[in-house]
Amino acid sequence: MADNKSIARPGTRRDFLAAFAALTGSMLVGLPTRLRAEPASAGPADPHLIEDLVAANRILAAESVVDGYGHVSVRHDKDPNRYLIARSVAPELVTAADILELDLDSNAVDLRERKMYLERFIHGEIYKARPDVKSVVHHHSAAVIPFGVSGVPLRPIYHMAAFIGLGVPVFEIRDVAGMTDLLVKTPELGKALARTLGDKPAALMRGHGAVVVGESLAMAVGRSIYLQMDARLQAQAMALGDHVTYLEPGEVEKLRGLDSYDRAWELWKRKVAGAMK
Ligand SMILES: [Zn+2]
Repeated sequence: MADNKSIARPGTRRDFLAAFAALTGSMLVGLPTRLRAEPASAGPADPHLIEDLVAANRILAAESVVDGYGHVSVRHDKDPNRYLIARSVAPELVTAADILELDLDSNAVDLRERKMYLERFIHGEIYKARPDVKSVVHHHSAAVIPFGVSGVPLRPIYHMAAFIGLGVPVFEIRDVAGMTDLLVKTPELGKALARTLGDKPAALMRGHGAVVVGESLAMAVGRSIYLQMDARLQAQAMALGDHVTYLEPGEVEKLRGLDSYDRAWELWKRKVAGAMK
């Protein structure tokens, strides 16, 4: 009799826990969060910043810089040691509800059951290495791929992409990790990419894509759009003849500041505004 009771009790307790879990799902979902010792939040980000980050995702998709893959982040306005980025979702589908807050080790503040981008370390490690950077874009634009694999450097072919004249190094993941799946999915690989980027506005990633940074979302997004356009134009110019005239360093210097892209940013935002409602 006593044995029967001892068998029945744990079963009863499990039933109770199952019912309790069903009734208080959100509380139990919160439990692993505490067990993982997630970083503290810097507090709510400026709603306009989140709105702009959502717009940045939509703009990059509309301009075909990203497709189902690729991501954009922005540094938190209340704490430089936090950044905002969508959960793992296609950029064109991102809404404000998808935005996560991460620390610079790329741990989420309040992940719950959501998945994160595997390559989020690109963002966290660049924010650590570059205090001047407020936004990071990672994309796989087909137009830039040839310049990451051919030894032909990407160069500034027109004024809208003058920033390329500051230098666009190529990240060779084999140099730091041998044979990989090419994804920057560890802090060490993120650090290595940040080292290759140095103080430059962008870096190509051999056989993979590019990373582009800026002092604002508008700058990182604008540079991403014009990096892609420059790659197309340079390939076209090189196909036309051997003597392509690029911007001179003196011209690049005089064009510094043009790449805030503020005027274009308002236009790009307007164009995706309908889709965001
Ligand atoms: Zn990637």
